[in-house]
Amino acid sequence: MPSTLISGKELSQKIRSSLRSTVDQLSQRGVQPGLTVILVGDDPASVSYVTGKEQDAKEVGLRSETLHYPETITETELLAKIQELNNDPLVHGILVQLPLPATIRSDRVIEAISPQKDVDGFHPSSLGQMVLGGQGFLPCTPHGVIKMLELTGLSLVGAEVVILGRSNIVGKPLAILLMQAPYHCTVTVCHTRTRDAASHTRNADIVIAAVGRPGTLTADMIKPGACVIDVGVNRVDDATKAKGFSLVGDVDFGPVSQKAAFLTPVPGGVGPMTRAMLVYNTVKAACLSANLPFEV
Ligand code: NAP
Repeated sequence: MPSTLISGKELSQKIRSSLRSTVDQLSQRGVQPGLTVILVGDDPASVSYVTGKEQDAKEVGLRSETLHYPETITETELLAKIQELNNDPLVHGILVQLPLPATIRSDRVIEAISPQKDVDGFHPSSLGQMVLGGQGFLPCTPHGVIKMLELTGLSLVGAEVVILGRSNIVGKPLAILLMQAPYHCTVTVCHTRTRDAASHTRNADIVIAAVGRPGTLTADMIKPGACVIDVGVNRVDDATKAKGFSLVGDVDFGPVSQKAAFLTPVPGGVGPMTRAMLVYNTVKAACLSANLPFEV
């Protein structure tokens, strides 16, 4: 039987709708959550991600601005701008779109963001809070994946989860979150040095692919009825498209969709959830700054 597709488009719409009522409550107190995105350079993928983030933020009623700088901006100038935003009470969330040009040290830039405004969840303080099970901002893609699993109604406690990929922004934080309460999954993480990834994925109830290579997860690597979450976003040449490329994930979609019980599409899967969790974090930041409870 073909998989049930988990639509990130639909689920993220639900999240944005529920955030809207919190934004209305904030508005009654004279607070409008504010998100500032910093974009350096003109990388087409980054420009497209930032445009999507801004659209989502505006849809929920946030004040959203993008500060677009040329690649020639220096690290010192960028750090000074972040300091200014840290001190601006109208800005509740700051996101620096990665990657930055090689002349700028990303870690220095991320560490300059106030942890109270770190809505991307990449600051070492946020990551430390996450490991300790604290209340900091969670990184948006791992959080979005978990929301997807929760909203789909899959039972997570005790589930065998295999994650392909161990990056700081996806694989590693996902593993940490899923092993903790309230999810209590048993998590295995595979990477390029894993001897036989398929021997792990074949036993998994949930496989999450976050690799960045098309066709990495094939149908013979999963058990029938598994849930497959495809985080990957890859551009492949496609002469039939006006842009000359298509977006595909890391999963061999056709054959896997005949074997998995649940599967996320690319595009329209994890991507919209990532953006929804950015809005979620910004609304949360505004609530915290206004001493209002945040429950969504
Ligand atoms: P990354 O930093 O390049 O990390 C890729 C990871 O995959 C590495 O840990 C690498 O292992 C591992 N890997 C590579 N080939 C593998 C294989 N055959 N089997 C198992 N593991 C393998 O990438 P990333 O930033 O995590 O992003 C991964 C993908 O997700 C990309 O396509 C990216 O565009 C996408 N993404 C999507 C969203 C979204 O919102 N939809 C958000 C973020 C990222 P080593 O550590 O050993 O090198």
